[in-house]
Amino acid sequence: MDFKQDAQIDTGSVVGGGGGGGGRGGGIAVGGIGGIIMVILALVLGLNPGDLLGGGSGQPDTQQTSNAQCRTGADVEKNPDCRWPAYMTSLGQYWSQALNGFQPTTMRIFSGGVQTACGTANSQVGPFYCPGDQKIYIDDDFVGQLLQQLGTQQSTAAEAYIVAHEYGHHIQNLTGVLARSQDGQTGPLSNGVRVELQADCYAGVWFKWAAQNPDDVIDNITQDDLARIVDAARVVGDDHIQKQSGGGVNPDGWTHGSSAQRKFWVSKGFNSGDPNQCDTFSTDDLGA
Ligand SMILES: [Zn+2]
Repeated sequence: MDFKQDAQIDTGSVVGGGGGGGGRGGGIAVGGIGGIIMVILALVLGLNPGDLLGGGSGQPDTQQTSNAQCRTGADVEKNPDCRWPAYMTSLGQYWSQALNGFQPTTMRIFSGGVQTACGTANSQVGPFYCPGDQKIYIDDDFVGQLLQQLGTQQSTAAEAYIVAHEYGHHIQNLTGVLARSQDGQTGPLSNGVRVELQADCYAGVWFKWAAQNPDDVIDNITQDDLARIVDAARVVGDDHIQKQSGGGVNPDGWTHGSSAQRKFWVSKGFNSGDPNQCDTFSTDDLGA
């Protein structure tokens, strides 16, 4: 996966992080693998961290630093932090023409801890979307660790999948689907899992568009990138995480879907290129 040299990047799509020269938070330590695994059981690629973060009483995030020097795809080579607004720019371009009533979301890069409208988060919660302030939160250093601990390589393709999945939650917030995950149910056919699998499918749809669109900033998506995306979907599967954390596989506890389910829906999105094929609520054949 490359970045087209001349393609524009929306510098306002990401705040915080090294690209903006600011936004680094305090020194809340990242725990060891056990602690991380326990938290990601609940929250890998999650949405509103809710109760675990102290409820919705937090103040909305006010970080304003943009990534002003990330203007074109060529800037990603000079400053790798510019890849984050590059992903966000391409996702915004896709969804602005795919969804009536679209409004963009922004990404907030943080390190250590961050206050959000969904509560105070630290790196260990992993990337998440907060519907309360409509932002994607990501600790850019922690994403690589997370992927490696889960057993896949860090790559731009895997990162882009994570961002696209969280962007999918924003789309679901706009369409009203996101609220269906709030019933607290778990299991392979639960509404929560259906919401997560739809976000995976949306990520696949966007990859297809990015692979075919000559104008967006993402270039040259290869078979190897696709393999990495599917492998990232595999390692964030609930059954894989349950096994990795030393327990048995317990489908009743699934919140995001099994490896097989997640691979199935990312692939379905990519193969169809059609978000209408991502209706995970109209079928009980969810690819388990
Ligand atoms: Zn999710």
